[in-house]
Amino acid sequence: MKSYRKEITFHTKTRRAYLNITHEVEKCINESGIKEGLVLVNPMHITSSIFINDDEAGLHNDFEVWLEKIAPEKPHSQYRHNGYEDNADAHLKRQIMGREVVVALTNGKLDFGTWEQIFYGEFDGMRPKRILVKIIGE
Ligand code: ZN
Repeated sequence: MKSYRKEITFHTKTRRAYLNITHEVEKCINESGIKEGLVLVNPMHITSSIFINDDEAGLHNDFEVWLEKIAPEKPHSQYRHNGYEDNADAHLKRQIMGREVVVALTNGKLDFGTWEQIFYGEFDGMRPKRILVKIIGE
């Protein structure tokens, strides 16, 4: 069995952002030379998410509005975690959107359904943050 590991750094200009990182993951697959196996992608931070969904701007706006209803950023004083840092909402948003994805790798390609794409969900950005790509297989 072969294995491959890579860290990729993102630095978003805004506090919250949704980035399609499918192409970055495909570059890792090509670099790894692995054709059959599993691809794991996770952020190395507790205020961002990796998730799979549709690359459609209206939907990303819907995520933003929905997450702000469930875990609004402000007022900062509503959260006990704030006081250390003002990012309690980002921890909660990450919990809702999930930590990682695992995708089957078949014949050197992500074995996706028609509309599936991999996203980096940033909830406390404007600083460098890393994601991990781990690939195992043959
Ligand atoms: Zn925090």
